[in-house]
Amino acid sequence: MVMGDLVSEVDVAVVGGGPGGYTAAFRCAELGLETVVVDADKRLGGACLFEGCIPSKALLHVAAILGEAERAKEFGVDFGAARISLDPLRKWKTERVVGKLARGLMAVAKGKNVEVVGGRAVFEDGRTLLVQGDEPQKIRFRHAIVATGSRPAQLPGLEGVSERVMDSTAALQLAEIPERLLVIGGGYIGLELGQVYAALGSAVTLVEMTDGLLPGVDRDLVHWLARRVERQFAAVKLGTRVDGLRETGGPIEARLGGETAVFDRVLVAVGRRPQTDGLGLETTGVRLSERGFVEVDARGATADPRVWAVGDVTGEPMLAHRAMRQARVVAEAIAGRPAAFDNVVVPAVVFTDPEIAWCGLTETRAAADGVSVRVGKRQWAASGRAATLGRADGVTKLIVDPDSGRLLGAGIAGPGAGELIAEAALAVESALLAEDVASTIHTHPTLAETLMEAAETLLHG
Ligand code: FAD
Ligand code: NAD
Repeated sequence: MVMGDLVSEVDVAVVGGGPGGYTAAFRCAELGLETVVVDADKRLGGACLFEGCIPSKALLHVAAILGEAERAKEFGVDFGAARISLDPLRKWKTERVVGKLARGLMAVAKGKNVEVVGGRAVFEDGRTLLVQGDEPQKIRFRHAIVATGSRPAQLPGLEGVSERVMDSTAALQLAEIPERLLVIGGGYIGLELGQVYAALGSAVTLVEMTDGLLPGVDRDLVHWLARRVERQFAAVKLGTRVDGLRETGGPIEARLGGETAVFDRVLVAVGRRPQTDGLGLETTGVRLSERGFVEVDARGATADPRVWAVGDVTGEPMLAHRAMRQARVVAEAIAGRPAAFDNVVVPAVVFTDPEIAWCGLTETRAAADGVSVRVGKRQWAASGRAATLGRADGVTKLIVDPDSGRLLGAGIAGPGAGELIAEAALAVESALLAEDVASTIHTHPTLAETLMEAAETLLHG
């Protein structure tokens, strides 16, 4: 077939099948709109399912089991040395976890009558998409939703040194467990995947250019994770940049702030960039920010009345749950319903051991903006449940408006913080007072009680 022979007309064409794209498509279909998703790989799930959230959390679960087995020695249970077989581990992650979810999404698409077209979509104009690849065609749309996501940022001058220099996608493939792994970047990915490799047996050196891990996150939360990685990693070098990497016909030689060290593999995790290149957006009225993100209003509308955008391509925070919420808003807006992304909080979780989670206003942000707040804290050393788990390494805090007692934000460090933050997010989103949380009966003994107890500290003085 000659490219472009086939022309279809749809209500909504979604470009990109990640969490933003498939959520928007499913909701559009539910609202009675004829919807097609164009995805470069003809699959639904995007970076999150195939090279992000899901495979990394599967591997972090394995790391957590190894960590628990190690801790069990403290109370007299010794499982012996772990034997790790990479083939079954890779198979479990790829087929049983990712594959199962991917098949599920395709089944949902079928059930909702959402067509998934394989190929790269390029805007020909503000009304038409050209699909390149195995299924070449033109799609004329009433509305298009750009959900093309993001890709790993590269370190200038260090690109293409060797296949032993990995991005997160390559690291998740688990080609081997390197003896010595250099992780560049102490953000979400560097810490999550650094801990995976450390648990599997690599000696991990982490290099972060700023003076602390997880820049921007409150230091009293990061403290617990920093303490853990200092013991777990071979080295953590803050305020350090990698000045050069050199392939030596095997190991990689790295220049780290004046020193030279040798590693078997390197993971570069220095952020992500929007995927807008080659998308033909210049043929539409869409406007991009200086950093290349698609500019959208609260409904997800771009400067072009037919084109909408959701997810990582629209900017920070680049998180799957934000993409999914934006997607529902855009679908409703396209269907003519009143809708806006007016959420007060986008909760965030770093799924490390211990987990770090926060939502709403942070103390760091409040201090930077000169906002006066009161903070109620509960150290986990005082929690009965934390004691039974052998995990006093955590803290729960609530940030409130000093006059009204209204919850503005929350931060939690500790195992399970990622689940616990949901209660805090609901409380902040619902404009609850510290008193509401303090007077809600929380089951005993649970880690959730620490939220109630942090709220109690705010009521007395
Ligand atoms: P994506 O998921 O990036 O999907 C975009 C899709 O568009 C892809 O399938 C791509 O192939 C396709 N595409 C791009 N251009 C075109 C084109 N021109 N034509 C056709 N198709 C195209 N977030 C969390 O909330 N929790 C986590 O635990 C978490 N863990 C992560 C771990 C890692 C290692 C990484 C890398 C990311 C993680 N994220 C996590 C972030 C999360 O993956 C993203 O926020 C999310 O995937 C964004 O969804 P999206 O729909 O905007 O785009
Ligand atoms: P990040 O922005 O979280 O962290 C990048 C880190 O690299 C920063 O600390 C930065 O100071 C550091 N850095 C930058 N350049 C450097 C250099 N030259 N040398 C040393 N350090 C350098 O980015 P990431 O870890 O690559 O993750 C990308 C995004 O993916 C995240 O911001 C997040 O949106 C998403 N993500 C989310 C999760 C989750 O929700 N649990 C997990 C993984 C990824």
